[in-house]
Amino acid sequence: MSTSHVIVGDGIAGSSAAETIREEDPDADVTVITDEGEALYNRILIKEFAKGKLPEAPISIHEPEWYDERDIDLQLNTHVDRVDTDSQTVHTHTGASYDYDKLLVATGGTPAQLPVENSDAEGIHHFWTFQDAREIKEHADTAETGVIVGAGLLGIDLAAVCAAQGMDAKYLMRGNRWWRYALSLDGAEIIHDALAEKGVEPVFDSGVDHFEVDDDGHVEAAVDPNGERFDAEWVGVAIGLDFNTEWLHGSGIECDDGVVVDEHMRTNVDNVYAAGDITQFYDTILGERAQNGAWGSAKEQGAVAAKNMVADEPVESFRWVSSYSITHFDFPFLSFGHPTIGDETAERKYSDTEWRRLAFKNGQLVGGVLIGDLSQQSALKRIIREERQVADQKEQLLEPEIDVDNLEAPPQAK
Ligand SMILES: Cc1cc2nc3c(=O)[nH]c(=O)nc-3n(C[C@H](O)[C@H](O)[C@H](O)COP(=O)(O)OP(=O)(O)OC[C@H]3O[C@@H](n4cnc5c(N)ncnc54)[C@H](O)[C@@H]3O)c2cc1C
Repeated sequence: MSTSHVIVGDGIAGSSAAETIREEDPDADVTVITDEGEALYNRILIKEFAKGKLPEAPISIHEPEWYDERDIDLQLNTHVDRVDTDSQTVHTHTGASYDYDKLLVATGGTPAQLPVENSDAEGIHHFWTFQDAREIKEHADTAETGVIVGAGLLGIDLAAVCAAQGMDAKYLMRGNRWWRYALSLDGAEIIHDALAEKGVEPVFDSGVDHFEVDDDGHVEAAVDPNGERFDAEWVGVAIGLDFNTEWLHGSGIECDDGVVVDEHMRTNVDNVYAAGDITQFYDTILGERAQNGAWGSAKEQGAVAAKNMVADEPVESFRWVSSYSITHFDFPFLSFGHPTIGDETAERKYSDTEWRRLAFKNGQLVGGVLIGDLSQQSALKRIIREERQVADQKEQLLEPEIDVDNLEAPPQAK
């Protein structure tokens, strides 16, 4: 009898799992259920669409025919409400149900709303889906003033949209810099200057106390906790994700700000796996639980989960050094590994647009940020993957060229 695999979510994690299951088991029944109205598209590229730099067509990755050709049952516009892990059935908002032998949870997250007055007003945008990008672009085409909230990797995409669409924009940040968990002021200043050059003014020690709206309920200003008022016809908010776990309530699947899985993407419940942004996974490099919000990592987790689902035993582990790049400026930017954790850091500025910061934990390199010169990314990722004890060799790791093979051997290997 064929095995029935049900995948909830057709983002890159779910889609990569479906593709891998079909490759590994030509006889399996594979169903992919998504509440979006379109099949897998490139979520990374929707920012280029919103900026007005790319048409719709190249953003799509799979047309529905792709699923037909592989005999994968794709259910669009279908929200999964509930899973019964005893009877191994998922239930959808239409009243339909799907029995599974193996279930993959790949439902990612939804952007969080600011917990302030009028945060749901017209003209306040959150950015996750292609549909969001269409609305963001359409509104940005006509808006003259903009405010961005959320000093992280998604917030800067919204700032880039304002810049590309010629808005007079203010980027409200808590503290004294952009992405303060991963960058020092030295590194962040390179980003601040680049934003200002594009017409987006960073505003520090700020944030939003409330939004003002007009008589039609459309946002017209953001007021920060200092009482300063910023005109804003268009607002972009990117303050993090709420993971889509509501449908798992009562299922017995362990959730803790996401779904907890081991390195094989198995949850605590038999025959239930999870992959992608939603996972709190066991990171075999760090030796502890971690979370990644990146395309490459979600794709790999989907493939690892799929192999283990098909084999019915753990044949593959997730072992991955993630990376995330920003391409809005004249210089490249890359964060890799886990740049926001660690107990020690080292950094160096090489020029006005070149900077490197490394984060270490328990003597190991665990992540970092490169601005301007990405040439050492492979060396640095290799050091992370090899779990080298290098925290006492910071100077060598900050050299423009890192000679990985000639780094001192770790003390225990001497
Ligand atoms: C604008 C933007 C720019 C980005 N840029 C980069 C970048 O440069 N580099 C990078 O590495 N990463 C980037 N990312 C992050 C990257 O896109 C994500 O890490 C990745 O897409 C996560 O994939 P996923 O499959 O885990 O989740 P998702 O892509 O979020 O897919 C989950 C899917 O499940 C659906 N779903 C949720 N709940 C249910 C339910 N109950 N029933 C049915 N369906 C449901 C959702 O609608 C969604 O389609 C960016 C993200 C955005 C939004």
